[in-house]
Amino acid sequence: MSIQSFVAASSLLPMPSLVTSIKAYVQQHLARYIEELSYLCAIDSGTYYKPGLDEIALYLFSRARDLGMDATIIENENWGNDFYGAMHGSGKGKILLLGHIDTVYPVGVAAARPVRIEGDTIYGPGVIDMKGCVLSALYAIEALMSMNYRSFGEIRFLCVSDEEISDRHSKETMQKVSEGCDGIFVLEAARANGDIVSARKGGSWYTLKAHGHSAHAGVEPEKGRNAILELAHQVLQFQSLNGWRHGLSINPGIISGGTAVNVVPDYAEVSFDMRFLNTIDKIETEKLWRQMMEVRRIVDVKLELEIQPDNRDPMVCTEGNLALARIAQQIANELGFSVNHAFTGGVSDANYVSSFGHAALDGLGPIGGLDHSPDEYMVMSSIAPRAALLGGLLAAVGA
Ligand SMILES: [Zn+2]
Repeated sequence: MSIQSFVAASSLLPMPSLVTSIKAYVQQHLARYIEELSYLCAIDSGTYYKPGLDEIALYLFSRARDLGMDATIIENENWGNDFYGAMHGSGKGKILLLGHIDTVYPVGVAAARPVRIEGDTIYGPGVIDMKGCVLSALYAIEALMSMNYRSFGEIRFLCVSDEEISDRHSKETMQKVSEGCDGIFVLEAARANGDIVSARKGGSWYTLKAHGHSAHAGVEPEKGRNAILELAHQVLQFQSLNGWRHGLSINPGIISGGTAVNVVPDYAEVSFDMRFLNTIDKIETEKLWRQMMEVRRIVDVKLELEIQPDNRDPMVCTEGNLALARIAQQIANELGFSVNHAFTGGVSDANYVSSFGHAALDGLGPIGGLDHSPDEYMVMSSIAPRAALLGGLLAAVGA
């Protein structure tokens, strides 16, 4: 869909009554929402815990089927199952809602930290990253169905079970279900200040391995080739490119090596995180790193640079993303709040879908934060308005 037709479609919307009705619907059913959220967060679903993930996929399957979606469980033998649902309407626009059902927490955390509410804040493992966000999408669709609103072309809803790790089985599925979509809405949380996300840096991860030669550090150190020493030299060389291109950052995050203090170490390795605004910056940095690897202090130490498979291209704020962001801002205004679209250094599955060439927005869940920590939270009063924002986007782009 062109930007002009986006704008045209959005001006034909039955707003604001539609979005205020969605908001009222979700607000009215908030107690049930919290009950479902508590249930989902009580299921351990770390990425490597298949029984929990399968249970959540099954829950979404039956929930989506009850809403009238064609629901499918994508069975994975070695990984948690994924969920996919689709429904057709009378409109033209095709939309993908993209979420994930895995968390970073080990088995036992769900029982140890059940969902609890303090004032306007809901705490619990996965409340905002992102069981609550997935639930909000279901409620947005449920609200539209309760009004018999079907003026969208197609709503697709994919929840993968492997977002939190680098070993991805779902890339192909994401690519496949993105095909032909006019807008993709990624269900990560809105940022703590309420911003949605229109751009993300790319991310790439590396391990630099140094192979030396060991020797007794007291008796004949001259026979050794110290892998730690060479690696330390390389860390400083690699890090010297931090910031050499606008927005490019480098972080050596893990380092290890050696076996005993009196042994010249024959092995050491360090892992780097690189973030970048443009893929070309990443490519140029890798090129320079490889040249630097030829400049060694201890020439007999062999160096090896391994690139992790889960590289993510940047989510560039394209014209398409901007058009979606403008529609979101218009809908938010109709709901009585304003929303900014921001750029972030963190990666999500929005990086993938936008690298497939689709217009996308992220941060369409409720407001929350402190993901991956015991303080992970969701702002309760943001549930209904943000579900209404999402519902409005489904209507606007779907039309
Ligand atoms: Zn996460």
